[in-house]
Amino acid sequence: MERLFHLLGQAIPDTATGLGVKVLCVGLGATAAGLALGGSGIAGMALPGVGVAACGFAASALAIRVLIREGRRKQAARLEEQIRRETEAMQAMEQRRREKACKGHEWSFDDYGLNINAWRWICGKCGAVTEENPLR
Ligand SMILES: [Zn+2]
Repeated sequence: MERLFHLLGQAIPDTATGLGVKVLCVGLGATAAGLALGGSGIAGMALPGVGVAACGFAASALAIRVLIREGRRKQAARLEEQIRRETEAMQAMEQRRREKACKGHEWSFDDYGLNINAWRWICGKCGAVTEENPLR
């Protein structure tokens, strides 16, 4: 049985989703084993069998809840990423529009560029950036 868990552990990645799948497998197995034991007709095994089945069922329910939550979390992260990308694209578009509408840039040297040995000038009016000296 321990060997089975080990193999299962190797086959399924150790993420929350993987753990949920593992617990679900074990839980369903325990439910089936418990029901088989309880229904086996062996004297004194009915009650423990039902107990094992109940535990297995509870573990399965818990695992399913974890899987659903994990699925929702991934979906939320995807949505957040999409919104972030759309916001960035919108900001970039807005910036290009501003640069085009800017009549006569007011270039000033951006000394942030000194740190990385790259020179750049930034327009104080529209925020346009250039690496070519526009004042020359
Ligand atoms: Zn400008």
